[in-house]
Amino acid sequence: MIVVFLGPPGAGKGTQCKLLVDRYKLQHLSSGDILRRERKEGTELAKRAQSFMDSGALVPDDLIVEMMSREIKQIGDGGVVLDGFPRTLGQAQELDKALARVGKRVDVVLDLQVDDGKLEERVTGRRSCTKCGAAYHTTFNPPKQSEQCDAGCGALSQRPDDTAEVVRNRIKTYHEQTSALVEYYERQGNVAHLDGNVDIEGVSRRLGELIDACVMEAK
Ligand code: AMP
Repeated sequence: MIVVFLGPPGAGKGTQCKLLVDRYKLQHLSSGDILRRERKEGTELAKRAQSFMDSGALVPDDLIVEMMSREIKQIGDGGVVLDGFPRTLGQAQELDKALARVGKRVDVVLDLQVDDGKLEERVTGRRSCTKCGAAYHTTFNPPKQSEQCDAGCGALSQRPDDTAEVVRNRIKTYHEQTSALVEYYERQGNVAHLDGNVDIEGVSRRLGELIDACVMEAK
């Protein structure tokens, strides 16, 4: 099963992807995570992507398509959830072509919708521990001691593009360039809309129902 997860920054895609990975054993392919990994490794691609990422703009399609095509070739039979890719019409068309080359297609597109007013607070409060991987939120899931990991690892960190100014640009970019993909996939008839304004458990429950229905349909 190939799942495409659409939603603005802060909608909770990453959190919900964990459910898809744990319960349905899907592989999680996040273009943002792959870019951040490339950045740590100091690759040429990451150097070309850096200024776009830092400002909250989209990395040019040719770089992203090249990077994601490599990953798509390696998708196993267990299926995958694509998180953060595609983000433009051009990327969606290239994804369709790349999948067709390996005899696959997008089975379901999840459109996770959250009111703009909630997004900025959700994103700017995100913190994580680079040592143990624990995730926190300054308001919704605060550490016991401000900005310190509960496991005693030391100071928490914030993604450089999670600051208010960059987040506003990322939200604007989503509306200008990515939300049109919902219409593109609606024409293919495989979009499921999810209300992401409710709590994490509520979204997970609805997501599970949707994926169960897809699994049943595929049988
Ligand atoms: P994310 O972790 O998905 O929020 O992505 C972080 C940043 O990586 C984005 O703000 C973009 O600069 C870049 N990025 C990730 N995925 C894509 C994509 N599919 N197309 C263009 N830029 C991307």
